[in-house]
Amino acid sequence: SSKAETYEFQTEVSRLMKIIINSLYKTREIFLRELTSNASDAIDKIRFLSLTDPNALSSNPNLNITVKADPINRILTIRDSGIGMTKKHLKENLGTIAKSGTSEFLDAMEKGKADMNLIGQFGVGFYSVFLVADRVVVTSKHNDDKQYIWESKAVNDFSITEDPRGNTLGRGTEIKLYIKEDGSEYLEEKRLQTLIKKYSEFINFPIYLNVHRTEVVEVDDEEDDKSADTKEKEEDDKSADTKDKKEDESDKGDLEVEDVTDKAESKPKKKTKEVVVEEWERMNTQKPIWTRDPKNVTDKEYEEFYYSLVKDEGSTPLAWIHFKAEGEVDFRSIVYIPGKAPADMFKKVQDYSRNIKLFVKRVFITDEFLDFIPKYLQFIRAIIDADDIPLNVSRETLQQHKTLQLIRRRIVKKILELIANLSRDKEKYATFMKEFGTSLKLGAIEDNRNRKKVAKLLRFPTSAENLNATSLDDYIGRLKKGQDSIYFVTCTSVEECQQSPFLERLVARGYEVLYMTEPIDEILVQHMPAYEEKMFQNIAKGDLKFGDETDDSKKEKELLKEKFSVLVSELKNTLAEFVDQVDVSNRLTVSPCAVIAHEYGWTGNMHKIMSAQAY
Ligand code: ADP
Ligand code: MG
Repeated sequence: SSKAETYEFQTEVSRLMKIIINSLYKTREIFLRELTSNASDAIDKIRFLSLTDPNALSSNPNLNITVKADPINRILTIRDSGIGMTKKHLKENLGTIAKSGTSEFLDAMEKGKADMNLIGQFGVGFYSVFLVADRVVVTSKHNDDKQYIWESKAVNDFSITEDPRGNTLGRGTEIKLYIKEDGSEYLEEKRLQTLIKKYSEFINFPIYLNVHRTEVVEVDDEEDDKSADTKEKEEDDKSADTKDKKEDESDKGDLEVEDVTDKAESKPKKKTKEVVVEEWERMNTQKPIWTRDPKNVTDKEYEEFYYSLVKDEGSTPLAWIHFKAEGEVDFRSIVYIPGKAPADMFKKVQDYSRNIKLFVKRVFITDEFLDFIPKYLQFIRAIIDADDIPLNVSRETLQQHKTLQLIRRRIVKKILELIANLSRDKEKYATFMKEFGTSLKLGAIEDNRNRKKVAKLLRFPTSAENLNATSLDDYIGRLKKGQDSIYFVTCTSVEECQQSPFLERLVARGYEVLYMTEPIDEILVQHMPAYEEKMFQNIAKGDLKFGDETDDSKKEKELLKEKFSVLVSELKNTLAEFVDQVDVSNRLTVSPCAVIAHEYGWTGNMHKIMSAQAY
């Protein structure tokens, strides 16, 4: 039946919509990015299905997105021939099933940690339509269900009705936005043209905008009674279909979608007349950026492609590499290092990394990988387009596919190369270490295969004068004669390290000490006890052995031991409950005493970490 069923929005969705509808957010245009990206996702899905089910596309063989403005009725229509939504999908995806992103986004917005621009990253991008529309009608046809209409006026409920017109879409989704009073710009052709070009450049399906232009046409004398207007009207009704048919033909046996430009037919006649011609103009023309020759791609294009991946125009990539791998396995890839680490809130939203997008012969396969890329490199954004993976494997078996394992290894290698290249740029690398240093340390801990490579990329603050940070190689290059260890001190900040009583003696003697200020550092040296055969030596632990000790200094220490033997045994008695040992040490200069950890025990710093983790 066509009776409307009414459903309440999930409470958080309602809350979210209220914020959105009342938002004075200045760049409301992002709704177009969200809608085109949803349309593109939906086409990706049906195309993926068609790899195993050849009939999946027959309900509508053309894969494209169209945008049309109707300024008179103030309606903007975005239509795609994607997978569509069943009644159940409409109900769940657009309103009732709690998405983890909803409350995360609300919290982040309220705390001022996120702005509207990031809505897509939280998986609730659809609702951005309410930035510009106060009524939204979604008509959708999925292969497994009838055509349904979802409608909302951005209040507490929405309705779903079976479409009384039957199946008019074939397959796909049409979204009608009833544009708010103050949103008229989104009904203007010029404005739409600019926006869609901006947001669709890297969408792999054609996006057409319905445009009008005046044209001088020759009028047939005999047909003069039939006005040009009516003729146009007929063309309008047919144009989308004709276009689709043409595409259909060029599409046979090929998954690639061809550009089609309408040509106004003209017969040689004498009389002319100016008419408004309506046509579908393709907005995105480039072929996928990764299939192009890197020599012909500008930095700006790489940056814009990055924005389209991260759905955030406020972020810039720190570095990228675009390459083609050949040999064992063939694929093309662009790998980006983001300019900023994602805030913690994003980690909670993502159960799996969506940062790596896999295509096979330009067909999007998945970005739902579980541990495709080692955890420590999950901040990387990449697209991979492979040739050698059979198209009809399921996402589940895909991950085990041998080719994918090879790709994984190559990608990790490339990422490490990219980071190594970046390390030549001091300033950028400082940013990199600030954002992703912890990740690299995790890599040195976890990645047995690449530990040495990763260790080379690490930087530590150091006691060496005029240096903010050093690599381990450079540290080793500055070893004092006879020095056999890499000295380090752990604390919570560089300032604290500098004031460490353990440091005095070593620095006074001309040794360099690394400052390990991160909780993960101590775990790192446990897993990597040596670098280039030099043992890491925590100067707050156990008995420090210096390479420059002379017989004289050893004698001096013995004398001091004797001199303070009474004090030492007195302290041992008094502090028996708290300490294992009291000893005379040569590690201090001005401080009278220091509390140190046993060589095989935890340092004070480590105790702090472990007790912090217990909560
Ligand atoms: P996300 O795209 O991150 O999942 P959105 O809020 O943009 O979040 O969309 C919510 C869901 O609604 C999508 O995951 C998809 O299942 C469905 N959806 C939205 N737009 C379309 C569309 N054009 N075609 C098919 N499904 C859609
Ligand atoms: Mg979306």
